[in-house]
Amino acid sequence: MLVYDRNQKRHSILRNYPVLGRVRYFFEKIGPEFRQYWFNSDTEGKPFSREDYEHIVRSAKYNRDVVSFGSKRDFDEEGFYVRNDMFPKLTEEMKMDKETMVKTKKYLLLKDPLFTQREEKWEDEESPAYLLHDDDAVVIGPQTKQPFVLKGLIGMSAMSYGALGKNAITALSKGLAMAKGTWMNTGEGGISPYHLEGGVDIIMQIGPGLFGIRDKNGDVDWDELKRKSEIPQIKAFELKLAQGAKTRGGHIDGEKVTPEIAEIRKVEPYKPVDSPNRFHQFSDVFSMCEFIEKIRAHTGKPVGLKLVVGGNDSVEDLAKYMKETGKGPDFITVDGGEGGTGASYQELIDSVGLPIKSALPILVSTLKKYGVRDRVKIIASGKLFTPDRIAIALAMGADLVNIARGFMISVGCIQTLKCQSNICPVGVATTDPELQKALVIDEKKYRVANYLVTLRKGLFRISAAAGLDSPVHFRPKHISYKDDKGVVVSLERILNEIQQQIGAS
Ligand code: SF4
Repeated sequence: MLVYDRNQKRHSILRNYPVLGRVRYFFEKIGPEFRQYWFNSDTEGKPFSREDYEHIVRSAKYNRDVVSFGSKRDFDEEGFYVRNDMFPKLTEEMKMDKETMVKTKKYLLLKDPLFTQREEKWEDEESPAYLLHDDDAVVIGPQTKQPFVLKGLIGMSAMSYGALGKNAITALSKGLAMAKGTWMNTGEGGISPYHLEGGVDIIMQIGPGLFGIRDKNGDVDWDELKRKSEIPQIKAFELKLAQGAKTRGGHIDGEKVTPEIAEIRKVEPYKPVDSPNRFHQFSDVFSMCEFIEKIRAHTGKPVGLKLVVGGNDSVEDLAKYMKETGKGPDFITVDGGEGGTGASYQELIDSVGLPIKSALPILVSTLKKYGVRDRVKIIASGKLFTPDRIAIALAMGADLVNIARGFMISVGCIQTLKCQSNICPVGVATTDPELQKALVIDEKKYRVANYLVTLRKGLFRISAAAGLDSPVHFRPKHISYKDDKGVVVSLERILNEIQQQIGAS
């Protein structure tokens, strides 16, 4: 090996230091795991800190979300805080659906010895679903033939079959269905049987590749779209515009296009598939809204847009057009640039698109400026994986919230950050049948349901603390912002400043 290393031409370090060079490569390779398990503090680590990660796992596995001995948040740093009320709501004063229950299973921790596995008991549980009261249900597309009525504020962000394996998608579908009142977004890879398996409501995403509804020439197959819309589980369609993390064309190598994936995506098996980074069917707000009208007319179901906000005037043309014509989407999913579950390019995930706490106020303010805010529902996403983060997003103007990576963690993701390589060690982001054996659907489906129900329960709890009988009543005045010097301003004032910049006030 020493002789080989000295004479090979690829690696400079190995030519001069054959042994030490290999040691260096070894440590470089295991660096992320070392940092994660040994050196990062509980609140460090990206994209999710150990504390964030454990919060999700604890909720999913034990259906518990209590912590001991105080917060680990750095209170000297700037950040948002939910304003507590001097007279919080009592449980019996909360306005929610008190009838719907969720049957699930959870673990009960019996002992946690140092050198052996935890001793746990697997037990049945029936708990309230923590859904909204009928009066507070969120209705997407009320003027469409088949409006989409939601009593849960939290759903699953777009995740395609192919990016995630069939076991992961099936566990998610079954777990979400079990938790009731929620939805699953298919991602742009078309509707797979695994998305449908649990019976959960579905938002079908349509990307520029038109997967699942394309004809042989790569154009829209309107008959196929109609057939898809007749699947009762599909409640709405979403056009995926440029995302911060994925503003790029897509490419799938021919060998990955198995007959199953080809059938789902409506492409030819074993031939490479390229998808453009923009729809060929429209190139401006006018043609996009015409396309939306056509899909709505064909399907009778609500049609939305998924977009990333890049600046103060990003949605100006859309809002203006909506005001002038009365047309436009039924909902807008605004994805913070901090999103992204699969593989993308560093420069795009780091620097393209604003994070959700900037993007959401810009979208809401622009829609208000043109008087069209009430015509659309807003779904926010971007690391909104805890009840407090969700409450802040609702106060900023979101109607609903999407989560992706929180759900991935609930089905077993351990953050090895290898999603792009198809070698996910826990069988989540892989289509390798061997690796997928790690993910047992009948175990993980309960964790998905537990995580979601625990989130909804926490959301009602934080609403009560803020003196609200339902999370739908969160407004900017319920949130304060503290800077690193301890100076406090209300979210209301921050949003007023944003509105002034945009010209909305
Ligand atoms: S375990 Fe790693 S590869 Fe698998 S989904 Fe999580 S981050 Fe991606």
